[in-house]
Amino acid sequence: MRIDLHTHSNVSDGTGRPAQVMREAAAAGLDVVALTDHDSVDGWEEASAEAARLGLAFVPGIEVSARDGWVSIHMLAYWPRPDDAPLAGILALTRDARIGRAQEMVERIAVEFPLEWEDVVAQAGSASTVGRPHIADALVERGHFATRTEVFDEILHNGSRFYVHHHAPEVHDAVRAIRAAGGVPVFAHPGAHARGRVVPDSVIASLAEAGLAGLEVDHRDHDPTQVERLAALADRYGLIRTGSSDYHGTGKLNMLGERTTSVESYEALLAQRG
Ligand code: AMP
Ligand code: FE
Ligand code: FE
Ligand code: ZN
Repeated sequence: MRIDLHTHSNVSDGTGRPAQVMREAAAAGLDVVALTDHDSVDGWEEASAEAARLGLAFVPGIEVSARDGWVSIHMLAYWPRPDDAPLAGILALTRDARIGRAQEMVERIAVEFPLEWEDVVAQAGSASTVGRPHIADALVERGHFATRTEVFDEILHNGSRFYVHHHAPEVHDAVRAIRAAGGVPVFAHPGAHARGRVVPDSVIASLAEAGLAGLEVDHRDHDPTQVERLAALADRYGLIRTGSSDYHGTGKLNMLGERTTSVESYEALLAQRG
């Protein structure tokens, strides 16, 4: 069994349609795949229909934007009820805030690199959630940079002078809201320090207390030291260890199935579904 619990479609900042992500997952030899677009469930219907056609087990997920103080955190939520009003409200607020934030980043960037908001709108296309990758794509389209990754390395990383925060729920509140909606919360890439600051062990301990189910230990943004640290934390707090690709289509180097989740972990997550 090959299980990949973290992928993105063009509903957020992936490049393929939800159905296409499912076809690629089947072609990559996966048996179970989750679609976890940022702050949106809009890809679930299309993905689950295509997965059913392909004989692929589909896990509906969301990568919920959250924060611990000023540290940005991504919280995966598996199987939450999409019609849960409090959770849907949190996601709607974040999606809305992301628009103003992206506009402000464009204003700052435009001082040095000619860029219009319309360029970003064109790159976002029909996406429900606007993010920095769409700004990156617009800068590539304008010819300022060669690839999305290059733009992040140069001017879109978290420490950049162009970086602007956006509203997001406090992470303990996010965990509780996901649980209240019947979802199973798993902390995405908790040790990805190249992206910015990461939270200390004490925050993971208090999140476990608040209802956190698992840690995405195996992820390409974790160096061996972080994998060891997170695996030990998972053991200590009884958190489920997952692994996944964080596939974004052609927008990033991540390949489907490059990291996977064990059957035991998958079953442990399923058992916690509300
Ligand atoms: P945002 O949620 O708008 O702050 O943008 C964060 C997203 O940017 C992440 O979910 C990734 O998809 C993408 N991202 C972050 N770092 C990089 C990078 N170095 N190269 C390409 N994409 C990145
Ligand atoms: Fe992303
Ligand atoms: Fe993420
Ligand atoms: Zn992701």
